[in-house]
Amino acid sequence: MIIILMGPPASGKGTQAELISDKYNIPNLSAGKIFRDEVEKESLLGLKVKSYIELGNLVPDELTVQMIGEKLGQLNLSQGIILDGFPRTIGQTKELERLLDGKNLSVTFVFYLDVLHETLLQRLSERGREDDQEKVIQNRLQLHEKQTKPLLDFYRYKKVLRTINGNQDVHEVFAEINQFLQGYLS
Ligand code: ADP
Repeated sequence: MIIILMGPPASGKGTQAELISDKYNIPNLSAGKIFRDEVEKESLLGLKVKSYIELGNLVPDELTVQMIGEKLGQLNLSQGIILDGFPRTIGQTKELERLLDGKNLSVTFVFYLDVLHETLLQRLSERGREDDQEKVIQNRLQLHEKQTKPLLDFYRYKKVLRTINGNQDVHEVFAEINQFLQGYLS
């Protein structure tokens, strides 16, 4: 299964990615987490992406695609993968399609975690990560609306989009996702 988790900042992508990964034993790749780890390590990539992350801007496609491409290259994708926070732009989507096509694979599900705007603001203010300051948050939410949400149309057209009510508690959200996975596997 090739699973993509999409949704605005603080919609719970990372949490659900881990739950799916644990239950189904599928590796999980979080673009944001990889970038944050690289910044922490002060690696070359980390230094390149630091300012984008701090300002809540998207890391340029070139860097993002290269980084994800490398990670995906190290995995056996026929065992499945959960992508959290990638793709986020049309360019990234095209690259992913190309990569999967080349291996005769295709996206199984895109789960879009739909969460009310007020709930997101509340969660982001409570989370208090370094890039969770007011101005940065507004920027990330806007970029999500403008750059990432349009990708839903593409995946809807491909009939793999499933919209999940992300306003519920963690386990209820997971139960919704799990129903689709069970349906697929049975
Ligand atoms: P959130 O979903 O809460 O915004 P993430 O951990 O997914 O948090 O992302 C944190 C930051 O990492 C983003 O604001 C962005 O700067 C960078 N980032 C993550 N994924 C991508 C991506 N696919 N393309 C470009 N930048 C990304």
